[in-house]
Amino acid sequence: MATTLMRNTAPREHPGRYYAFMALVAVCAIGGAVAVTAYGGAPDGGWFSVPFAFWFTAGLALVAELRPTRWGGLWMSPIASIYFVYVLATLVTWGFLPALIVQSGAIFLLSAQIKSAAWRTVFNISQQGVALCVGWLVWHALTQGSAWTGSLTQLLAVLAAGTVWTLTSWSLVATRQGLRTDTPWSDLFAQWGRSEWALRVTQIAIAPILATAAMSSWWLVAASAIPIFSVYRILQAAADREQEANHDPLTGLLNRKGFQQVVDGKITDAGETGTAVAVLILDLDRFADVNSALGHEIGDKLLVELSQRFLADKPPGKAIARLGGDEFAFVWSELDGMTDPLECAREIRARLDAPIVLGDASVEIDGSVGIAVFPDDGSDFQTLFRHADIAMYESKQRTSSFARYAPEFDHHSPERLLLLGDVRRALDHPDAPGVNLYYQPQVRLVDGEVIGAEALLRYNHPERGMVNPAEIIETAEHSSVMRMLTERVVDIALRQLRAWNDSGYDLRMAVNVSVRDLQSLEFTDFLTERIEAYGVNASKLQLEITESALMADPRRVVVNVQRLSDLGVGISLDDFGTGFSSMQHLRRLPVTEIKIDKSFVTNLVDDPDNAAIVSTTIDLGRALDVEVVAEGVEDENTCKQLEGWGCHAGQGWLFAKPMASDAFERWMADRRGPR
Ligand code: C2E
Ligand code: MG
Ligand code: MG
Repeated sequence: MATTLMRNTAPREHPGRYYAFMALVAVCAIGGAVAVTAYGGAPDGGWFSVPFAFWFTAGLALVAELRPTRWGGLWMSPIASIYFVYVLATLVTWGFLPALIVQSGAIFLLSAQIKSAAWRTVFNISQQGVALCVGWLVWHALTQGSAWTGSLTQLLAVLAAGTVWTLTSWSLVATRQGLRTDTPWSDLFAQWGRSEWALRVTQIAIAPILATAAMSSWWLVAASAIPIFSVYRILQAAADREQEANHDPLTGLLNRKGFQQVVDGKITDAGETGTAVAVLILDLDRFADVNSALGHEIGDKLLVELSQRFLADKPPGKAIARLGGDEFAFVWSELDGMTDPLECAREIRARLDAPIVLGDASVEIDGSVGIAVFPDDGSDFQTLFRHADIAMYESKQRTSSFARYAPEFDHHSPERLLLLGDVRRALDHPDAPGVNLYYQPQVRLVDGEVIGAEALLRYNHPERGMVNPAEIIETAEHSSVMRMLTERVVDIALRQLRAWNDSGYDLRMAVNVSVRDLQSLEFTDFLTERIEAYGVNASKLQLEITESALMADPRRVVVNVQRLSDLGVGISLDDFGTGFSSMQHLRRLPVTEIKIDKSFVTNLVDDPDNAAIVSTTIDLGRALDVEVVAEGVEDENTCKQLEGWGCHAGQGWLFAKPMASDAFERWMADRRGPR
């Protein structure tokens, strides 16, 4: 399917009704034209008596349509054409048939210019033919067909005929459009009326002046053409300005506003034909670095160069926009020839493969693409755009080239927003019971000594009950609630640590921190202040960082982690082995401990691959002089195996599940008792 002009296609539903209406209009036009011609006759004195002024007028009407004006975003909306002034003047001076010929000729030319389908051209000639018949009837009824003298009665009659012509034409077009898009007829009519009445009134008011000129001499027609064409030049300038308002001045691509208009159009078309539209957003990586290292001028050149690459071999119908900064957007539909949205993303990415050469500098570029597809991922522009953006961020997080939207990426679904609101309310109250910590012991494997505990978030929702902590973290991580949550967790954990120290337990406390915490410097200040306030030894605090947290913005995070380490706090690499660049993090960060992810530990006895991974990780820890903790230790055999390999500590259901502080204390007391 390579149709690019949707207005040339028929609706999917009820095409019969649609075509029947158009056939009816054509029959009315032919019938009306024959009847009016028979009644009104040829021009007075026959065709050969028509003065040169007529041919000149007709010629001007046709010339005007060689460069049609785009008005209100539409080509040849029902009225925005110069020829109408000439047709109306011709109707009142030389009669119906000459006017019909001029009108039909102009529409034919205009349709060819804007590549209308044949049936559409026929419809436009027909509907305006019907409008002209009705206009002639009004003119004739009010003047009895008298020759043009410019009397007041005739003036009023032209205005009435022009108005009726307009209303008839709009009604017919609105009906056809309504049948195609299932929009109420009256809505379309009102919409055009609002945007175009002023232009139409001007056209109708000029017609009698032109008629008077035409009756005098052809050179008066020529003189009056100047103001008429000036009006249209002004119109064209306004249309051009509208065009500029839709484009990015740097690259000449569409801007966000223009992009939205294009996407809206494609969505309407796809909705009618049951086809798909893909919206893709590309965000360049490290573009800020290019700007700061090489200067904004080079940055701009890079963007222009990149736009040229995107535009090269662009298939017709595919639209490209720059949304500002280093973000680009693309839209392509099945109607335009798109077959696979993922293939589109691959193609966009392929354009980034070669470095961009700017003078002496050669710049490597990279970026992530997010995809959202109509109708599956959203039914309107706003939703598709938001979802493509979410998918783009997801793809950045995963450091993959592209990602198609999936609901689980969306941290702002209505349910999650509600949950976020509830967590925030719970945190607003200092001692609200909803937010709490459970503690899971960490046990030294050689002697079974409890060395500490990991603090794990528990949230008891008033209606939902216990909510999975991973769900809360994922939801909160994208909002300011995460800071509040971490501060609460740190506060409770440090208070608990202090209480245990006071009761004679020499334990350490492991606390999980999120991506968001590690991106701000304030977290370090907060932690320093709390450690002092509770009077605990900083080395008794262990911060667990997951690898995905490190992926988000490695450099900033590395700086902050270093500051935390300088405080004397231990840094533990959580879920080790599940990320992408574990080794790199080990090298760059002041890590004091590795926590092997439970997915490798739990079934280690039966799975030789996992066994190999775990034993190698333990060796690695020894070589780097960092402690190794295995999480997810569920049975005795695993525990023995780990101990044999020299793993320092274990955490898991074999020892205890996470539990509330009082249960933890009882568990400790029981454990101490028999030993
Ligand atoms: P994590 O830090 O890797 O925590 C270990 C998870 O493993 C905990 O799940 C724990 O209950 C579970 N676990 C412990 N032993 C075993 C075992 O033997 N077998 C199995 N199958 N599972 C075991 P939980 O409590 O559901 O926490 C899930 C994740 O949520 C945590 O993973 C951590 O990433 C995050 N999280 C929990 N509390 C916090 C918090 O206060 N702040 C932040 N930022 N993240 C937290
Ligand atoms: Mg953890
Ligand atoms: Mg873990």
